[in-house]
Amino acid sequence: MPTPVTGEPDPNGGDCVGCGRCCHHPSHTVHFLESDEHRMGKRLLELYTEEYTQPPGFRFMKNVPTAAGDETHCAGLDVSVPGQYPCAIYEHRPDDCRIVEPGSPACLEARRLGHLGSSVEFHRPR
Ligand code: SF4
Ligand code: SF4
Repeated sequence: MPTPVTGEPDPNGGDCVGCGRCCHHPSHTVHFLESDEHRMGKRLLELYTEEYTQPPGFRFMKNVPTAAGDETHCAGLDVSVPGQYPCAIYEHRPDDCRIVEPGSPACLEARRLGHLGSSVEFHRPR
C-alpha cells in the first residue's frame, strides 16, 4: 500500500511517482488493445502481461501481491525503492494507464481509497 499523500495532486503529474495509487488495483483491470500490444512489443508483453481465457483473446497487465499481501498492484510498478512508485514500462504503458489524469475523479478517488476505485472509465474505441 502506498504511503499517505495529502493535498491536491499536482496536475502535471509531479507527485504521481510518490503516490502510485492508480497502479494498485485487482487483476484484469488494465487491458490491451492491438495498438497497445504493438507499442509494448513481444518481450515486454511476455514479461508483464497475461492472456485471459474467458473470453479468449483479451490481454491484461499481470498483477502481483503487495509486500503486505493485503492487495495487489500492477506487475509494471517498480517497488524497489520504498515510498516511490515509478512505472517500469512508462513509455510503453497501455492507453488504459493514460486515462487517469492527476486531479481527475478517478485520481481523487484512488488517493482517497489507496487504490484504483470504480470511478475510472476505460471506455475506448475498439
Ligand atoms: S492517483 Fe492521481 S496522483 Fe496518484 S498516481 Fe494516480 S494519477 Fe497520479
Ligand atoms: S503499466 Fe505502469 S502506469 Fe500502468 S498500471 Fe502498471 S505500473 Fe501503473
